[in-house]
Amino acid sequence: MHFELVQLPYATDALAPVIGRQTIEFHHGKHLQGYVNNLNNMVGGTKFENADLETIVKESDGAVFNNAGQVLNHNLYFTQFAPNAGGKPAGKPAIAIDATFGSFENFQREFEGAGVGLFGSGWVWLAADKDGKLTIVKEANAGNPVTKGLKPLLGFDVWEHAYYLDYQNRRADHLTELWKIVNWKAVEARM
Ligand code: MN
Repeated sequence: MHFELVQLPYATDALAPVIGRQTIEFHHGKHLQGYVNNLNNMVGGTKFENADLETIVKESDGAVFNNAGQVLNHNLYFTQFAPNAGGKPAGKPAIAIDATFGSFENFQREFEGAGVGLFGSGWVWLAADKDGKLTIVKEANAGNPVTKGLKPLLGFDVWEHAYYLDYQNRRADHLTELWKIVNWKAVEARM
């Protein structure tokens, strides 16, 4: 299977100032493109040659897992944002978040805390189990909740490449700002 760079559903400057144009250009155009290229170069002639991305993430390890995981992670990441979005969710995400976390504010606090508390590079995910129950999952490096049998709904990237040009070392400030661009309709479509 040949993997392609996911298309951004917005212009590279559309998420500024939450995520600036230069960050998007490097993060999507260089970092993600690199993972896509590496993955394509690695799977040819292996048992993963015809596998879809999620299958590779679930069944691989080492360098193949790292690159496949990062392609899956960033495909979810870049398609969950929109300009003029953010705020509180409505509909299914709101009901599920309230049921698990008590309120949207409690969820935000726990989610940000998980992201800030993750040492080094990784991801914080909102994920659902097969019954639709939500959970916050911290994953190191290229990890994704699909390896635990969970469905990823929303992911914040805490690798420094996601925020360093805009926020330098201030990961917590970056995570707080990200709520302004979360497209809850895109999250709901994953439920
Ligand atoms: Mn990233």
